[in-house]
Amino acid sequence: MNPPTPSAIRPNSNAARDIAAALHPYTDLVAHQQIGPVVITRGEGVRVWDDAGKSYIEAMAGLWCASLGFSNQRLVEAAVAQMRRLPFYHSFSAKSHEPLIELAEMLLARAPVPMSKVFFANSGSEANDSVVKMVWYFNNALGRPQKKKLIGRVKGYHGITTASASLTGIPTNHRSFDVPLAGFIHTLCPHHYRFGEAGESEEAFATRCAEELEKLILAEGPETVAAMWAEPIMGAGGVIVPPATYFEKIQPVLRKYDVLLVADEVICGFWRTGNYWGSQTYGIQPDILTCAKALSASYLPISAVLVNDRVFQGLAQESHRIGTFGHGFTYSGHPVPAAVAVETLKLYDELGIGEHVRRVGPYMQDGLRRRFADHELVGEVRGTGLIGAIELAEDKATHKPFDPARKIGPRLAKLSEANGVISRAMVDVLAFSPPLIITEAEIDEMLDNFGRALDQLAAELKQEKAA
Ligand code: PMP
Repeated sequence: MNPPTPSAIRPNSNAARDIAAALHPYTDLVAHQQIGPVVITRGEGVRVWDDAGKSYIEAMAGLWCASLGFSNQRLVEAAVAQMRRLPFYHSFSAKSHEPLIELAEMLLARAPVPMSKVFFANSGSEANDSVVKMVWYFNNALGRPQKKKLIGRVKGYHGITTASASLTGIPTNHRSFDVPLAGFIHTLCPHHYRFGEAGESEEAFATRCAEELEKLILAEGPETVAAMWAEPIMGAGGVIVPPATYFEKIQPVLRKYDVLLVADEVICGFWRTGNYWGSQTYGIQPDILTCAKALSASYLPISAVLVNDRVFQGLAQESHRIGTFGHGFTYSGHPVPAAVAVETLKLYDELGIGEHVRRVGPYMQDGLRRRFADHELVGEVRGTGLIGAIELAEDKATHKPFDPARKIGPRLAKLSEANGVISRAMVDVLAFSPPLIITEAEIDEMLDNFGRALDQLAAELKQEKAA
């Protein structure tokens, strides 16, 4: 199908060329042929500009990732200096280089629990996919080849490669892609607002989540269940904050059946929730941790897997038996992104990003609640630190959502964009995850402009109902 380019799109413009040439991730590919892209040409601080000169506050830091904004020269210089010195080297067959060594040391020094070794990849998906294979390898090393099933959560997001998409629990990442693969199972989504029963406290809901998890492990057979993945706050599933006591209750269940816990810190790592790791915010003690995105402030792609000593010893033993750890990417620990990541971690320390987030995070959370909690279209406001969201509801009292076919959330995201704020709609949840360097004044501007879009939407919906 190749519909004609609509007349509103000028021939030979960036938009026309994009429509003719690019296949976009997370886009309705047919609608795109008609509507075309927003082409972003430059960035500065928390703002980006499109090719018509319109500026936007990037309320999502791109994809929850451009933590130091869009114009940090120290990161640029770190990349250039490394490119001049050693633009590429690999880490196969015991080769190494200084940026890889320094970054691994820095991550181990900052880990939320004692970790033993760091493996590098290029994306969050690759990191989680690598962990899937590590967990299988580990259990083979321990002589329990049947202990291989992996648990994700409904609405969890761990990436889109075949295994990480199987861990993901979001229907649009599964439908028509023939995933999840066999052996990937999903447990209850810990979203109290949506799945808590009437009158059920957060604590009681957390207890139910832990009981459901135990039931699932027992139904599958504990001897067949290897690991569970969890984001501290679930990002792409809709900024789902765990109910009080959730991790406190699920971790003993995992320990009881010797099921490894993998903390997916791809969004929450590096101060997003007000602590260095989301694991610290929610008392998570992972066996394995994955991170990406803010690891390099997203100036270049890089991700990391941290494993504890028990896991490392298993991997080491199996690799020794076989003769090699037969896994790794050409660009595992690529020196240029590694050098940028080292500089990023230094900048977090030097700039006092943690203290900054602990100041402006509560300011954003308070602003979101004060402005929007009572709004007629808003069911729930949630978040912590510099990650937050509003969830729209057709009926505030019963939490009844809008019919997803009406695409109310994406419509609000478009209105927000017209008002100069790039947010992101996940069905009817609008997320805020701005660069960590955002100021109070920029937060006010972001929320003022977003509020205008929300009011416009409310007025439009009223008009449509009356018509
Ligand atoms: N895990 C989480 C929690 C994520 O949010 C994402 C990306 N949004 C991923 C994994 C996958 O990362 P990537 O897109 O870099 O593959």
